[in-house]
Amino acid sequence: MTTIAANLQVVRQRIAAACAAAGRAPASVTLLAVSKTWPAVQVRAAVACGQRAFGESYVQEATDKIAQLRDLVVEPRLEWHFIGPLQSNKTRTVAERFDWLHSLDRAKLAERLSAQRPAALAPLQVCIEVNVSGEASKSGCAPEEAAALAQAVARLPNLTLRGLMAIPEPTEDIALLRSRFALLRQLQDRLNAQGLALDTLSMGMSHDLEAAILEGATIVRVGTAIFGER
Ligand SMILES: *Cc1c(COP(=O)(O)O)cnc(C)c1O
Repeated sequence: MTTIAANLQVVRQRIAAACAAAGRAPASVTLLAVSKTWPAVQVRAAVACGQRAFGESYVQEATDKIAQLRDLVVEPRLEWHFIGPLQSNKTRTVAERFDWLHSLDRAKLAERLSAQRPAALAPLQVCIEVNVSGEASKSGCAPEEAAALAQAVARLPNLTLRGLMAIPEPTEDIALLRSRFALLRQLQDRLNAQGLALDTLSMGMSHDLEAAILEGATIVRVGTAIFGER
């Protein structure tokens, strides 16, 4: 067995165990394999093990990789998720090449992405990134800005608002970590009570996916535990 195959097996077992501990169905959590910095050959190895959803953080690197993998015809097909910080001059590439964006944090980006999404493609699936760690973190919108941004995104024709994403500051304090994830879940509940239909919580990475699943994660974004140290 290749290292990636063995690692994927371990990560899938971790997800299954966390789901069991949380009383959730294993199918309620999607594994997003974060392939940033890794070449296309590593993605092929993961695809050979049945992995289909991949996360990328750098627009140019991702574009090259997606092009290199165009010959790979599999069923179901590959799904590309952009999870990194997005600059407004890079929105067109994301609108044209990606299936999902997890890191939306301002209305201007949303408007550009909707305008630039090719008509032949399904709407771009979007999560709003929320800063759940206060001053410790700079990425994502403030929790109190999320409702207005969500309503704005929901009105755009070529985006489908799916949910929320967070990257809490790393900490050894599991209770603190869980409270950050819980904040995202509570925010989702509040937005849904306001008439939105969010079904996605993108939270949890290699070191904290168990805590995220206990708090309701539906997508975990895992890089290091699958591909190794970057
Ligand atoms: C790199 C990255 C990950 C993966 O982190 P690991 O610790 O390697 O699992 C997840 N989410 C985002 C937004 C990232 O940039």
